[in-house]
Amino acid sequence: MTASQSQKPLVEARNVHKSFDQLEVLKGIDLDVMPGEVVVILGPSGSGKSTFLRCINHLEAIQRGYIQVDGEQIGYALRKGRLEKLSPNGIARQRRKIGMVFQQFNLYPHMTVLQNIIEAPIGIHGESRKDAIANAMRLLERVGLSEKAENYPRQLSGGQQQRVAIARALAIKPKLMLFDEPTSALDPELVGEVLATMRDLAKQGLTMIVVTHEIGFAREAADRVVFMDGGHIIEMGKPEDVIGNPQHPRTQAFLSRFL
Ligand code: ADP
Ligand code: MG
Repeated sequence: MTASQSQKPLVEARNVHKSFDQLEVLKGIDLDVMPGEVVVILGPSGSGKSTFLRCINHLEAIQRGYIQVDGEQIGYALRKGRLEKLSPNGIARQRRKIGMVFQQFNLYPHMTVLQNIIEAPIGIHGESRKDAIANAMRLLERVGLSEKAENYPRQLSGGQQQRVAIARALAIKPKLMLFDEPTSALDPELVGEVLATMRDLAKQGLTMIVVTHEIGFAREAADRVVFMDGGHIIEMGKPEDVIGNPQHPRTQAFLSRFL
């Protein structure tokens, strides 16, 4: 990371609170993510990991605190010195900076791999078909699937489909990628190829927040590991510290399941 990149966080979450009716799911989350950084979030089921990612992408609105991505407050715009709630169009514009990959890849089954990838760049971003195709082919090469451009999702393995979903998320040229348990729905023998693709993206300097139970990936690819439990960040630091030498009993208990 160069000095100029290292100054300002790409993501700044402060005192983020999120409740669903009476259920408080996020109880004051503070997290900065620097450009080029890979942050892996670990934590038991129900601890609020997915909700936090969904708040960053404004799929959920937060009730207290704020989230900034690339200097803009999510869900709001600064007008005449005042923060105003964004219109759906404004929210869509903010979301274009953020790519998201889910456990379920949700490719369009009636579209080829190539059509899946160029759909948003052409339909939403008004890119020319020629540019969108050229970019999609570059992305397919990056995820190792150039030869599958004309295939339909059902003709691909789960691991290949998830790599297409990653290429599709990258096609909008996001500054930030969010991954929510991207390998959890895969047969065990297909997990490695998706993690390898994600490792490559990490090496190429993409800013990534990854929720996963793949401790090995966290150990190798993360710049920082965050352990969440009960809507709090319990522990955060370098993988060798948080995974190798966890300080908090809850982190220790969680990690002991993976030994
Ligand atoms: P994780 O991803 O860490 O497993 P989630 O963020 O999915 O956790 O969920 C945290 C808590 O919030 C859970 O108790 C879950 O049932 C609840 N929750 C998540 N989404 C909703 C929703 N849309 N409505 C009500 N409760 C929700
Ligand atoms: Mg989840």
